[in-house]
Amino acid sequence: MTAVTQIGGIIYLITILLVKKSVEKKRLKRIGIFTVLYLVATFLIVPNVSPFFGREKIKETEFLKAHSFFYKLTNRNYVRPELNNAIGQIATEFERQNRGIKMVYLDANFPFINKFPLLPHLSHNDGKKIDVSLIYERDGKLSNKKPSVSGYGVYEAPTEKEYDQNVVCKAKGNWQYDFPKYLTLGTFNKDIEFSEKGTRQLAELILKQKNVDKLFIEPHLKTRLNLNNGKVRFHGCQAVRHDDHIHFQLK
Ligand SMILES: [Zn+2]
Repeated sequence: MTAVTQIGGIIYLITILLVKKSVEKKRLKRIGIFTVLYLVATFLIVPNVSPFFGREKIKETEFLKAHSFFYKLTNRNYVRPELNNAIGQIATEFERQNRGIKMVYLDANFPFINKFPLLPHLSHNDGKKIDVSLIYERDGKLSNKKPSVSGYGVYEAPTEKEYDQNVVCKAKGNWQYDFPKYLTLGTFNKDIEFSEKGTRQLAELILKQKNVDKLFIEPHLKTRLNLNNGKVRFHGCQAVRHDDHIHFQLK
């Protein structure tokens, strides 16, 4: 529970202390108390305490949204104030260029403690990292729909002519490179397709931010989208493939 939500384990301990073993209907009472405490902590306490630890809850707007409620319910939506400002600006500018189209975020960071990893990501542990969804289109028009329930694991794979990083990493023994294909939790919106134009615009806006240090996207998409900025890097075979989302981070 702590691994998924950071605060879940502590809340569970408090619950056990509050509801003694001898109490009647112990299980039911524990579940009830845990749920209430967890929700109060997640939505009322943590957002107000995290700034003292240098992190803020992502400030959502009409056009900056979590892919699903899961990310907010599990406290995976915390960033440093500088990153909060940057994402806000990127989303606003992106919507100015594409009316009604949202910037959708996935995993960011937990609210507390540097080096506390947000699994399954290796590096989302300092408030400086965030993943955002690629942009898709339907009948040639940009859409807010995404292909995966979780937000991860549906790949915009290389064509036969494009460089295939997955094959290269697998050959090196990095079996985990395309592991997120098991983490989709289902797929939907089969009528959408990857938008080169929309994703390139979003990537360019991210790269334009002065305090953005690195952006990770799969090499074949870097080439396909013609992203020449030096901030666009390869994340390495020990990570997972990035043709289902874009990762970026501050200096
Ligand atoms: Zn990431």
